[in-house]
Amino acid sequence: MTDATYDVVVIGAGPGGYVAAIRAAQLGLRVACVEKGPRLGGTCLNVGCIPSKVMLESSERFAELKHGMLGHGIIVGPPTLDLARLHQRRDQIVAQLTGGVDLLFKKNKIARLVGHGRIGARLPSGAWQVAITDASGASGVETIVGTQSIVIATGSVPSSLRGVAFDHERIVDSTGALTFPKVPEHLVLIGAGVIGLELGSVWARLGAKVTVLEYLDRILAGVDREAADEAQKVLAQQGLAFVLGARVQSVTRRGDRVDVAWTDSENKHHVVDGDYALVAVGRRPYTDGLGLTEANVAVDPRGRIVVTDELQTTAPGVFAIGDCIRGPMLAHKAEAEGIAVAEILAGETAHIAYDAIPSIVYTHPEVAGVGKTEEELIESGTPYVKGRFKFATNGRALALGEGTGFVKLLAHKDTDRLLGAHILGPRAGDLIAELAMAINFGASAEDVARTCHAHPTLGEVVWEAAMDCARRSLHK
Ligand code: NAD
Repeated sequence: MTDATYDVVVIGAGPGGYVAAIRAAQLGLRVACVEKGPRLGGTCLNVGCIPSKVMLESSERFAELKHGMLGHGIIVGPPTLDLARLHQRRDQIVAQLTGGVDLLFKKNKIARLVGHGRIGARLPSGAWQVAITDASGASGVETIVGTQSIVIATGSVPSSLRGVAFDHERIVDSTGALTFPKVPEHLVLIGAGVIGLELGSVWARLGAKVTVLEYLDRILAGVDREAADEAQKVLAQQGLAFVLGARVQSVTRRGDRVDVAWTDSENKHHVVDGDYALVAVGRRPYTDGLGLTEANVAVDPRGRIVVTDELQTTAPGVFAIGDCIRGPMLAHKAEAEGIAVAEILAGETAHIAYDAIPSIVYTHPEVAGVGKTEEELIESGTPYVKGRFKFATNGRALALGEGTGFVKLLAHKDTDRLLGAHILGPRAGDLIAELAMAINFGASAEDVARTCHAHPTLGEVVWEAAMDCARRSLHK
């Protein structure tokens, strides 16, 4: 073996890792990617973004048939759920997309190394070794490959709470909550974050009673407060019961039931009984068995790999991207870093627009935001103007039967530069793209207002909100 068979070995084939591998191969580097799972695509494609969106779409259609067609003058009988088929459709889409990544690897001549990757020795030449064992580690057989650089893209795993052990049947994480064999009678959700609200929505629409226990006095921490509070009202109308200020202490299995014990802000004890509990209290970086300490790769107190702006760890030639480093745990943030790290390794300059990373909660309606929240502007003492416009008077929204929500834009008071954009409403996740670009380009609210938005579209609500920053909205 030469010191370095590869220019780069990427550890982990999620949206960060597989994108880094493809981009590096496009730039002419010799690339291998180590993945211990049976399929490429990581959490996002296998048990995260994609399968949850399939479930959200199917459950939304079911709920619409159940409650939403009469207004259109369409009378249908009560729909019947074939849960097994719904699960099957999700699995097919996952198989199709993960298989697509396999094809992309072949097309780009990326070597797929199957097993658990660990950083090995650094050779006198400066090259690294990567040791690959079979995924379970049971056989103990290791394959060693040499590489100039390593990119760690190992992602994150669900966190749990002290006193709560997953049994992966009745007490589950987000992966387990995708595949319940029947619609829960009463799903108790711990944590009103993105995962809780998305998967809570799925099962509520399919007929479950859903109770959400949240420690904070609000839902969706980190999302603009006005949008989060409004989302809470809408989701409560859809049947999600929220208990705020509830600190969950333990979850106990009792046959086919679960007891979720929590204390309120006055330290009073309560117990909720359900048939399933979903623990969605955040995720933690996954770096187990990577050999970080031996390789002198430093982590911060939250277990995240420390990196420079160029994504370089404390070990020369070892880089890290995605959920296992600082920043939001989002697939598209990992992808942006995957592209950047490949370009850096190929000797190019790269830039990631961290100020313009959109985030989306795929509830109905969706909640999307980019840039600063209003709370952040107040806290930093930044002078700002706010433009706001509701979907309730937009013709397209009304035709869709989707008049709930608003677009809120925040612009600097003196320069009019767009600083933040927040949307609660139909297709908010698609509408936010225009505003992420506006923020990335340093646009003003007036730039957005002077951009012709087609009629009749939901985008006109963005346009009106931009005009409202100068108090010249037309339909308000
Ligand atoms: P989260 O951090 O979004 O929310 C967790 C919630 O749990 C918080 O509100 C927290 O206050 C609450 N909590 C913590 N301890 C508690 C306790 N003892 N009792 C009651 N409540 C408690 O975490 P998540 O929803 O698990 O999501 C994890 C990560 O995955 C996030 O970083 C998220 O961005 C990402 N994700 C993103 C999407 C998306 O972009 N659409 C979808 C799913 C997941």
